Amino acid sequence: MIIIMRPNATAKEIAAVEQQLIDYGFKTHPIYGETRTIIGAIGDKRLLSMNQMLMMDGVENVVPIMRPYKLAGKELKKDPTVINVKGVSIGANALAVFAGPCAIESQEQFSGIAAQVKKSGANILRGGAFKPRSSPYSFAGLEDEGLKIMANAGKEFDMPICTEVLDTRDVELVAKYADILQIGARNMQNFKLLREVGKCSKPVLLKRGLASTIEEWLMAAEYIMSEGNENVILCERGIRTFETSTRNTFDLSAIPVCKELSHLPIIADPSHAAGKSKYVCALAKGAIAGGADGLMIEVHNCPEKAMSDGEQSLTPAMFSQLMTELSPIAAAVGRTL
Ligand code: PEP
Ligand code: MN
Repeated sequence: MIIIMRPNATAKEIAAVEQQLIDYGFKTHPIYGETRTIIGAIGDKRLLSMNQMLMMDGVENVVPIMRPYKLAGKELKKDPTVINVKGVSIGANALAVFAGPCAIESQEQFSGIAAQVKKSGANILRGGAFKPRSSPYSFAGLEDEGLKIMANAGKEFDMPICTEVLDTRDVELVAKYADILQIGARNMQNFKLLREVGKCSKPVLLKRGLASTIEEWLMAAEYIMSEGNENVILCERGIRTFETSTRNTFDLSAIPVCKELSHLPIIADPSHAAGKSKYVCALAKGAIAGGADGLMIEVHNCPEKAMSDGEQSLTPAMFSQLMTELSPIAAAVGRTL
């Protein structure tokens, strides 16, 4: 429920309302405005009704939160969320560009790619140390060693790093090295994992599930936020449809829909959507024109030799050209690159 205090409510009345909610086990989200205070409250309405709250001194009105995603939705928070990671803003006017290989293969490989994508304007490094692979026989990542390689490159190039965490047991370890924890498409509804990253202090990049609706995706964000971690970045990476020309179908409409329903930043991953490098740039441009707050692009120095997702990886030269071509598109929609 949302408790709207009268403009002249006293500090004592506001504190009493908050205390009442806390006493009944509600989590409170007060917004202290210039003219009035609004208190968002999430809890069990069977224990404390809206009518009971309406009777308290200083309360003007009480309205229900209609959407099931109460923290991820816009009813409680209208202003867009901007997440700052080591000096890089995600959700601000300047676009966030995550770039790097699908999998971290060696220090030389990762640092080499990092140097080149930084030169072209990427501001966050991506790379997988724990890889979710469709086949149990495929390369599953360098794990701990991969995290260390990534952290070295992050320091060397002064860039935040983003990497996937696959298992609740690894959250602490991954959070020790990474600046942003990635929840992959296959784990979007791994509720235990969502709760675990929700307890951690690092921002979470939440990829859309392979066959998830936008509502299911926002509910996954809600799981993370309900544990106290409100720094969630949504990432549209394509969904399964009947179409087989691309690896997945990039759902451009998810961007304006999420912007309407949620205050969370949303970026696009055209690499996993397309599955083929030749389509990545067109999708990336469409995503920025459509209002995305940034991109995640897979880049490999030698895609034909990549241990994972080579087919969809851009070379550093292709990435550099994409960044050049993106610039006027970003400017046309009032963003900077
Ligand atoms: C990845 O980012 O390399 C990855 C595995 O992505 P997704 O979870 O979107 O398939
Ligand atoms: Mn990949």
